[in-house]
Amino acid sequence: MPAPPLDDRIRSRTGIIATLGPATIMPGVLKQVVEAGCRIFRLNFSHGDLEDHRRNIRDVRALEAEMDIPLALMCDLPGPKIRVIEVAGDGIDVEVGEEVFFDRDQSSPCVRIEQEPPVLGCTWTGIVDCVKPGDRVLINDGAVRLLATEVSDGRLQCRVTTGGLITSHKGVNLPDSELDIVVPTPRDMELVAWAIKNDVDLVAMSFVRSPEEIERIRSIMQDNIDGTGHERPLPIIAKIEVPPAVASAEEIIAAADGVMVARGDLGVEMDLAQVPIIQKRLISIARKLDRPCIVATQMLQSMVDAPVPTRAEASDVANAIFDGADAVMLSGETAIGRYPVLAVETMQRIAHESEAWLDSSDMVCCDPVDDSDDQAVDDTHALVAGIHSAARSVRAKCIVVFSEWGTWSRLISRGIDSLPIVAYTPRQSVVRQMLLCRGVIPELMEVVPDEAILSRDAQHRLADVGWIDEGDAIIVVLGRPLKHDNHSVRITVHRFGDGGRA
Ligand code: PEP
Repeated sequence: MPAPPLDDRIRSRTGIIATLGPATIMPGVLKQVVEAGCRIFRLNFSHGDLEDHRRNIRDVRALEAEMDIPLALMCDLPGPKIRVIEVAGDGIDVEVGEEVFFDRDQSSPCVRIEQEPPVLGCTWTGIVDCVKPGDRVLINDGAVRLLATEVSDGRLQCRVTTGGLITSHKGVNLPDSELDIVVPTPRDMELVAWAIKNDVDLVAMSFVRSPEEIERIRSIMQDNIDGTGHERPLPIIAKIEVPPAVASAEEIIAAADGVMVARGDLGVEMDLAQVPIIQKRLISIARKLDRPCIVATQMLQSMVDAPVPTRAEASDVANAIFDGADAVMLSGETAIGRYPVLAVETMQRIAHESEAWLDSSDMVCCDPVDDSDDQAVDDTHALVAGIHSAARSVRAKCIVVFSEWGTWSRLISRGIDSLPIVAYTPRQSVVRQMLLCRGVIPELMEVVPDEAILSRDAQHRLADVGWIDEGDAIIVVLGRPLKHDNHSVRITVHRFGDGGRA
């Protein structure tokens, strides 16, 4: 039986993540989103109930089987996100200078009583104990801004410094206050256990502040792993969105399996002017530590309502790719927007153009393994540098890798951007997880191959999609013997048309 073609269907090397929501559950939309180039879906646990998420998972898995394309699901845990409770009617409009109260005992819905200052409640009653006079209280991503003025009798009194409409469930950020909130929250712990049992591939954790929190999430997954079919906890993506996380970024990213530049909360918690710099720094740390990096939020924000993005948004997506992001993420654009398919198509086109330009220019987004200083690189990185060097020397058109857990594929994908990496693994979950690594085209190969089979299969598939011609070289890396020796791979050069001989 001929092998199915590689998944090269209008897909950029940079991953595109679409957040699922009411806009994507419309009949036929999910399939068009995949056809437009999306391979990773985010389940945002800050919204919807478990039934909604279960249905989304079922729909994505059905589509994966129907289209014979791997699709990954990333569950995004809310963490200690504080929200305004239910607000009656169209919301409460507040004006600059007026007083607003947060009441520990406020029951929902909050209503405005005429001639009286509005009284709000929020999902974390500790707000009254932790916020001090002079601290900022920011609502709805900072659109409405308050300054705390007094705390008394279980009430926090604030003055409005930027007015606007406060509606139900809007986020509340407290960037100046020391919060005694533990991450993961009890709710996150339940959701982690749920995620590992419900066919999810990646777990993103909001509002992490320390590497220990990442370890706690991993151990909760480990405690719930029996009977799930998983042999290891799912990869954890640390969302960097609060100042303590920015300060400990290296340690957190090292403890995690990937990182998300969560610009929504980051832009509220920190000076907006610092966000571009933090983004560049986080991408660079992730590259240095061999972790995949996602850039998220407001990438094509205007496409929530409009069929074309702004020029600035198009540049933003391209610049994230030039900086070395592995994946770019759509939030409201696909979850609640009017043009979810067009948003993915647009992102895919920008990614494609950006990558083509990178390939043709001298600009490099990925630093090769750095052995320029006196410090020796470790054995694994030395081998990766050797693979890159061989690929460049023979002008290889592709690197083909077999690795059980995808580690070699991920490492090889770090320092080389212009070559596709076809990554075979015997594990379906690893196939999906590898979709997050830029340039990696993951494939399932259930039996452990010998090098000739691997090379022959890959060559036929690469020729089918027109990526190689007679005489073209490919590098084949067999990372299988990892069990026996952590630093051993078998590397061979094959030329298409010579019968697969090395
Ligand atoms: C963000 O803050 O940028 C983010 C991705 O998280 P959420 O969408 O959950 O606010």
